[in-house]
Amino acid sequence: ESALYVVATPIGNLGDMVPRAVETLQTVAVIAAEDTRHSSRLLEHFHIRTPLVAYHDHSDGQATQKLIDRLLAGESVALISDAGTPLVSDPGYQLVAAARAAGIRVVPIPGACALIAALSASGLPSDRFSFEGFLPAKHGARATRLESVKQETGTLIFYEAPHRILDCLNHMAEIFGPDRQAVVARELSKTFETFLSGSLAELVERVGADSNQQRGEIVLLVRGAPKQLEQSLSPDAMRIMQLLAAELP
Ligand code: SAM
Repeated sequence: ESALYVVATPIGNLGDMVPRAVETLQTVAVIAAEDTRHSSRLLEHFHIRTPLVAYHDHSDGQATQKLIDRLLAGESVALISDAGTPLVSDPGYQLVAAARAAGIRVVPIPGACALIAALSASGLPSDRFSFEGFLPAKHGARATRLESVKQETGTLIFYEAPHRILDCLNHMAEIFGPDRQAVVARELSKTFETFLSGSLAELVERVGADSNQQRGEIVLLVRGAPKQLEQSLSPDAMRIMQLLAAELP
């Protein structure tokens, strides 16, 4: 039976390529990649000789339809992106949605994902989190987005470009308040991997003072807003509070 395999690839350390990803890429008929030149280096390293085609989520849907046709004709296809898990701030959503709609089997091959790697070692609460992807580059649009997540109580996770990190930390300090805790996770799985933790004000200082912290690939994590009383109390405790409050003069 043919299938669309959604295959995660490393986020910087080739040692993170899982054996099942290599096997899958070797056995499918074609590999759909975000950037064929970039991916050909990965494939060479693992002696994978499967043909590559370029794939992006274009609005006209032509690239998607071509791959769906091949899948319906019985060929298996693997989808990869430049790094990490496809569809996570990367192309692939249209293809996966179209494949599912056409009744094609879709199989994930799990592996590296920068946001999960960052969260798992950040020391911030991991029971609830929301992935916010890349913030808008323009100040006004970014302010609107930050305001909209200001009251979130779960950990907030962002991808950020290195040349914008300082500006972004400043903007967050302004909107979330300078005392909100955050973590800058940089160059995960690579030689210069670093985690900087502190308040937003402290991070502005430390990242501002060290231009090395404004290079490479970055995941920015921000602790959620403190829980409101109603959210942290059990329903019973909340009822008692309400009854007591009603009796207060
Ligand atoms: N699909 C990828 C994933 O699963 O994480 C993300 C692709 S997105 C286009 C690229 C962004 O992910 C970078 O700008 C950075 O924010 C983050 N990223 C990717 N690799 C990283 C790494 N090794 N260390 C820190 N952040 C990384």
